[in-house]
Amino acid sequence: MTDLKKAGATLTIDLGTLAKNYSILSDQLPSAGLASVVKANAYGLGVKEAAPALQAAGCSTFFVATLEEGSELRQILPEARIYVFHGVLPGTAKELLAHNLIPILNSRDQIEQWQAHADQPAGLHLDTGMSRLGLTPAECEQSAPDLAKFNIDLVMSHLACAEDQDHPKNVEQVALFNELRSSIKAKYASLAASSGIFLGPDYQFDLCRAGVSLYGVNPTPGKVNQMAQVIRLQAKILQLRSVDTPQTVGYGATHQASKPTKIATLAIGYADGYMRSLSNSGIVYIGDFEVPVVGRISMDLTTVDVTGVPEDMLHMGALVDLIGPNNPVDQIADQAGTIGYEILTSLGHRFDRHYISDEA
Ligand SMILES: *Cc1c(COP(=O)(O)O)cnc(C)c1O
Repeated sequence: MTDLKKAGATLTIDLGTLAKNYSILSDQLPSAGLASVVKANAYGLGVKEAAPALQAAGCSTFFVATLEEGSELRQILPEARIYVFHGVLPGTAKELLAHNLIPILNSRDQIEQWQAHADQPAGLHLDTGMSRLGLTPAECEQSAPDLAKFNIDLVMSHLACAEDQDHPKNVEQVALFNELRSSIKAKYASLAASSGIFLGPDYQFDLCRAGVSLYGVNPTPGKVNQMAQVIRLQAKILQLRSVDTPQTVGYGATHQASKPTKIATLAIGYADGYMRSLSNSGIVYIGDFEVPVVGRISMDLTTVDVTGVPEDMLHMGALVDLIGPNNPVDQIADQAGTIGYEILTSLGHRFDRHYISDEA
């Protein structure tokens, strides 16, 4: 089953599950549309494969961060509606138009950059509490008269605390968004990303912008994940060995065998996105057997303690789940002290990538 000649680790990406997640999210939206956010190479999963699968699932509107991502996506999806979060930077208006990309105008300066093309559709970002991109309430008031001449088809903002359903900031931001957008003539309004969708109808407006939840990460942390797991990351066992006191394992000798122990060395490391912070704390699975990472994670290798695993499951080339049914992305993120977003976007580029489509 395992091809030993091939790369040491395998990333399986289920495009059927991706499509299913699109439907699960759409079902949360009685009247709003659902756009897919495919920035950063579809959160590391591969935009060439993910974007067509999302389009086939019914998605017609996409968001990317940069002009480069937009022009790449335009090659993949000639017909899609594509918005660019970073907007129009000096000298890029013509290229945006050439690729039929819609910039999100984030500042007074960007509005000026787009002035010559004011008849062409643009989005407008209003800052309601992130202090990152978008017009401040004062700038919104200043710009409102000029914007009357623009073809603003989408007015948007972004929530700071949407994953915490009871955070008072959510209510504040939606109120400010409604106040600010009342002075702007726009076809559509958009506020919610993945977690915002689950705050309910007051947050959904005309269009929601789902990213991480499409790729299986829980948009409602602390509650059951309604999304299905899209990826599985497996590494091969390269070598098995027995160690005993006083032997140590790995760089810095941070793990010392306290009894006869069986160590498996896996062909994956932090260069593949299996984060070094999982040293001596990560959990991997061989079948349903839980196996702890022992010692430091190296660039290309990870050592695990397989003492408790039946002999017949342990052989060179056997596949070990680093992310899988027993250890989903959110769990790895927790163990690594980060968030699912970072685990996905850190996935490496040297493993064997398999795209499957489980139409279950
Ligand atoms: C990345 C991004 C999204 C998608 O967020 P998720 O939490 O991944 O769903 C939506 N809107 C903006 C402005 C973003 O930058």
